[in-house]
Amino acid sequence: MRNISRKAERFTESVIRGMTRLCERHGGINLAQGFPDFPAPTELKDAAKRAIDADHNQYAITWGTREFRQAIAAKMETYNDVSCDPETEVTVTCGSTEAMIATLLAVVNPGDEIVIFEPFYENYGPDAIISGASAAYVPLRPPHFTFDPDALRAACNTHTKAIIINTPHNPSGHVFTRAELESIAAVCQEFDCLAITDEIYEHILYDGRAHVSPASLPGMRERTITIGGLSKTYSVTGWRLAYAVAPPPLTNAIRKMHDFLTVGAPHPLQIAGARALEMPPSYYGRLASEYAERRDLLATGLNAAGFRIFVPEGAYYILADIGQFGMGDVEFCDWLVRQVGVAAVPGSSFYRHPELGRDLIRFTFCKREETLREAVRRLARIPELLRSHRSIP
Ligand code: PLP
Repeated sequence: MRNISRKAERFTESVIRGMTRLCERHGGINLAQGFPDFPAPTELKDAAKRAIDADHNQYAITWGTREFRQAIAAKMETYNDVSCDPETEVTVTCGSTEAMIATLLAVVNPGDEIVIFEPFYENYGPDAIISGASAAYVPLRPPHFTFDPDALRAACNTHTKAIIINTPHNPSGHVFTRAELESIAAVCQEFDCLAITDEIYEHILYDGRAHVSPASLPGMRERTITIGGLSKTYSVTGWRLAYAVAPPPLTNAIRKMHDFLTVGAPHPLQIAGARALEMPPSYYGRLASEYAERRDLLATGLNAAGFRIFVPEGAYYILADIGQFGMGDVEFCDWLVRQVGVAAVPGSSFYRHPELGRDLIRFTFCKREETLREAVRRLARIPELLRSHRSIP
């Protein structure tokens, strides 16, 4: 169509967010989109209300309030082992979604390439198109969703501008090990390219796993843009608060893109965000252990319903194999929401070549225990419902 840009024509609306709308229409349980159905911490909500009452209701400094940037820098030092200057190296953004696109717009030139591990969080595909980068894909192979370092090297060349790293990883739940990240770091150095890291699930880790920030590895600080955010750690996906940490020249460019994309993130929520980052270590321990319980509940229910699953090491999703059910991922998800009343995401939305995700679907477990129990109760009917589905000619 004449009025539509070529970029807009190259991608569809988000499959995940589309699934949420379909789920609402069918009154299903939404295990598709990763947002909690339980309350955000009271301390945060109170701090946000106080900030609004104290009339912090106008634009904040474009790249974030000083107090929030200082809190981010302190947290980067103690938790991520990365020291940064809040005045010149931190940009507060409207979600990590904006941090990623602002970063790509800040660094990509025509002809540049970015490397994406697949399966991947679905935003990265459109992000590449919007920023004008061409994307090269490196497979993460089940069951543990690890990669072959030679495949990574083979995907890089003199046009490679950045490697995108998402750890803990959505959708697979893989937590990249230090050794894996060191091998990515070596490739970044060999090809003189950047690492853009999406660490939004950094606190959601299972079975004693540790999060390693790529910027903390030797030689990486200067070539890494670290993206983190509040959505998942504090159960406030609707607040749209995140940040990008990068050396001053990169931060300068990111801040310019951010300024003209959004001007700034919500001011009163940034004030509450600074409070959030002061939570004691016990908060993060509890977050991870509560998610571990939810993971186990859903994993047990999926196994009982006949799914073969890939148990996540971090983040809050489970990939399930549906190869044995005789339907493709899109058909199965459609059937699941209509007949079983549970929404999941077709695996193909996480792959550049849809056929690679044809036998996979993704469930999230960032829900209350009773929501998950009801979902598990519904999923238990799958074998019986499938039998009658198959007997319909
Ligand atoms: N990055 C990953 C890997 C995600 O899974 C998500 C949300 O599901 C986001 C980014 C979006 O985060 P935000 O709410 O900060 O924009």
